[in-house]
Amino acid sequence: MAAACAAAQRPVQSVTLLAVGKTFGADVLREAATAGQRAFGENYVQEALAKIDALSDLRAGIEWHLIGPLQSNKTRDVAAAFDWVHSVDRLKTAERLSAQRPVDLPPLQVCLQVNLDGEASKSGVAPAELLTLARAVAALPRLRLRGLMSIPAPRAGAAAQREPHRRLRGLLEALRADGLALDTLSMGMSDDLEAAVAEGATIVRVGSAIFGQR
Ligand SMILES: *Cc1c(COP(=O)(O)O)cnc(C)c1O
Repeated sequence: MAAACAAAQRPVQSVTLLAVGKTFGADVLREAATAGQRAFGENYVQEALAKIDALSDLRAGIEWHLIGPLQSNKTRDVAAAFDWVHSVDRLKTAERLSAQRPVDLPPLQVCLQVNLDGEASKSGVAPAELLTLARAVAALPRLRLRGLMSIPAPRAGAAAQREPHRRLRGLLEALRADGLALDTLSMGMSDDLEAAVAEGATIVRVGSAIFGQR
């Protein structure tokens, strides 16, 4: 990450490392937290809730981010347990999260997941629907809309990897031009984090490069 920031002439503090721990146990995450890691990303709600519980003694120093698909019957647990949700892609889910966010917690930080490659198998709002969704989510009282997230189809080579990240940045800039105060681009994983940092990622989501193969 430091090398990628240097290459992109960006300050290293401008990118947050989200450690993605899916399939790894709470003991492994505890080791990372003890080494100074603060932000943890999880894909599966039930698995994440068990780890959040197991690491509850560290809760004040840790952020939990949901990055996997969110079904509407899980929103209550998610609204109570997480700090961020990166995978919001429909208004109904956002409305439920806002209504269910406990009053003693700060607003839930959210990103909208964008389906950049038009893959039918993947979650995410289509770029053409993004502005309407973003305006509606930004108006919900117990959510704070921070930006955009994407999981592009894998590509080989730096130039090809940068292309979808550049499009996501363009979409964020269009929303800002519309008046939304957004500051987050959640993009880049183990295999393409350099390309994502070059295109302006503010959160990179890294699993296997930290914890090993799943
Ligand atoms: C698993 C996962 C990651 C991390 O992937 P790695 O290739 O292991 O770095 C990032 N984002 C999402 C949404 C994931 O599901």
